[in-house]
Amino acid sequence: MTRTLGDGLRWVELGTGLCERALASIPVGRLGEPSELAGWSRAHVVAHLDGNARALTNLVRWATTGIETPMYSSMEQRNADIAAGAVLAEDILRGRFEESASLLADGLGSITDWSAEVRTAQGRTVPVSEVPWMRSREVMVHAVDLLGGVEFTDLPDDLLLALAQDIAAKRSVDGTGPSLLLLNRDGVQVAQVQGVGETVTLSASAAELTAYLSGRDPSLGPALPAWL
Ligand code: ZN
Repeated sequence: MTRTLGDGLRWVELGTGLCERALASIPVGRLGEPSELAGWSRAHVVAHLDGNARALTNLVRWATTGIETPMYSSMEQRNADIAAGAVLAEDILRGRFEESASLLADGLGSITDWSAEVRTAQGRTVPVSEVPWMRSREVMVHAVDLLGGVEFTDLPDDLLLALAQDIAAKRSVDGTGPSLLLLNRDGVQVAQVQGVGETVTLSASAAELTAYLSGRDPSLGPALPAWL
């Protein structure tokens, strides 16, 4: 399956809407409660999404001006910003999420040359057309992590498939986890993970496979190393 720029732009909008839906369902005063992610409250997740949108807006600026603007000044700074954001007053944090999501949307709307190259926080050089996909992953998976009633089954099937393939490819490069063959309910291959040991075949829905591969539902198959 080949994902297109149009897919990425559509998924950013959909995923942002899912985060908004989750946030709207979480009563004011309860962002401090745990999220799906170990050690992170819901507020940490929101602060991370806020920082991610601003970081990706830096890449958009880089692409449109040619002036090198990295996502983060350092990983320490990224993490410090998340910790600081997580203890902001809740209305301010919620406001920052909205503000940064619309800054990024405006930035993406201003791009005329999608082939302009930028460098990600992981040091990969990519065309700026990868930015919508980078944001899609974040808003879609973290919408679920907020524990505000959004589940993997709420994510569109084409996104789930693209995400399963993306995670499987990253896990294959790492290669330290189990070898996996992932099939849908009809027995059609969704993704494959190169790893160690005899290949384990798993058959499940796209939502179940992606939840498992992303480390959100360990019940489906053998234990996986952390992802991201
Ligand atoms: Zn993230």
